[in-house]
Amino acid sequence: MMKATKVTMEDIVSLAKRRGFVFQSSEIYGGISGFYDYGPLGVELVNNLKSLWWQASVKDHDNIFGVDGSIIQNPLLWQASGHVAGFTDPMVEDTVNHKRYRADQLAQTDSTDLHEIKELLKDRKSPDGNPLSEPRYFNMMMQTWVGPVEDASSMVYLRPETAGSIFTNFLNVRDTMRPKIPFGIAQIGKAFRNEISPRDFIFRVRELEQMELQYFINKSDQENAYSQWRNFAWNFLKETVGISESNLSWHEHKAEERAHYAVAAHDIYFNFPQGPKELWGTHNRSDFDLTSHSKSSGKDLSYFDESSGERYTPYVIESSVGVGRLVLAVLSDAYSTDTLGGDERNVLRLKPSLSPYKAAVSPLLKNRPELVAFASKLYTELKCGIGMVLWDDNGNIGKRYRRQDEIGTPFCVTIDFQSLDDGSVTIRNRDTTIQTRVAADKVLETLSLELKK
Ligand code: ATP
Repeated sequence: MMKATKVTMEDIVSLAKRRGFVFQSSEIYGGISGFYDYGPLGVELVNNLKSLWWQASVKDHDNIFGVDGSIIQNPLLWQASGHVAGFTDPMVEDTVNHKRYRADQLAQTDSTDLHEIKELLKDRKSPDGNPLSEPRYFNMMMQTWVGPVEDASSMVYLRPETAGSIFTNFLNVRDTMRPKIPFGIAQIGKAFRNEISPRDFIFRVRELEQMELQYFINKSDQENAYSQWRNFAWNFLKETVGISESNLSWHEHKAEERAHYAVAAHDIYFNFPQGPKELWGTHNRSDFDLTSHSKSSGKDLSYFDESSGERYTPYVIESSVGVGRLVLAVLSDAYSTDTLGGDERNVLRLKPSLSPYKAAVSPLLKNRPELVAFASKLYTELKCGIGMVLWDDNGNIGKRYRRQDEIGTPFCVTIDFQSLDDGSVTIRNRDTTIQTRVAADKVLETLSLELKK
């Protein structure tokens, strides 16, 4: 019997740790705020999400090309992009214990205007009851130094977003791939943001991974392209990732929320355990990026359209989603509990394409060599045929099923005494819990078909 459950952050954090999806970074040393490691199951889920996004963004299009830029770039890039001057969040400090807070969040406002925030925080104390400092802007880019001398000339930034090296490779991609406008450049990679208060598990972290696409267009095509990439994001979440539509909504940025150069910005919000929040942004960035990199680098980044004879600086539609936020959304959306034979079970209703393991193979008893030999032959065949398959001979069969349900394994294959008599095995379906007997030599074909659904 299905029972609707409101998943809590505690449920997700506990599942993630217990089953090996996400661990605190350097946990044995007490961790470090805003950094997480993906465990054996998490890394599979992450890789599956990334390869589905890469397929949908790059491989399914003739005019979209991938790059993989370095994390440290020439710092001039971040001056031209506006990050050195403006990649800031408003901050206030507890004047006694010097703890720092996001000032807009403390003031419970969407505005980042320091005067407005100051007014709202006028009579407020810090969460520890101490006086607050004046709000000020805090730059979130992380710095380090390259080479043996630590001075201003060797200071560099860890990239705060992947988009930068897409713009700096605009000419290289054009020269090597010879695409005509419209065309896009996509990238998956790490970015770093010195968030004032990292929180909500992997929702807001200091080291994140982004999947970003910049689509270069003629200004006259902006409406079309903008709606194409908004639809792309929605359909990817709904159809490819399988997130329930009821957990998704659009949030349109008002003019005062947008960067000065942005013509339009729409975020998809996901109903996270802590509330509806941004998961994926689609922005019309006008010709700001290429114009500004042209000016700063002295390289001509305009485009000449041979068919119309027009020369122009392309507009950019940006599509950007954080991998970790997507993992949190997927886990929250898929997590459910139901009752089976009077017992409660946790089930991760992942689409099979996302599941870390596609099937588990279990000999009913691990101390019966004839069952183990039968099962291990099938295990090897399935591993070659469908990839990630888990061998599970631990505990009673009910416990094994619960364990696989909780990590989202769509099928369990069990080898029992009947298998030795008639060569059949059972395939149990995670979602329906129905068990079907299938000839062992038909299991690979059956599962391959099921996994394609
Ligand atoms: P937010 O308003 O939540 O700080 P943002 O508008 O600054 O996000 P973008 O710069 O547009 O975000 O980044 C694109 C995507 O990268 C976001 O939609 C989100 O999925 C992800 N992202 C951004 N910042 C973080 C972070 N600190 N931790 C995890 N993911 C992040």
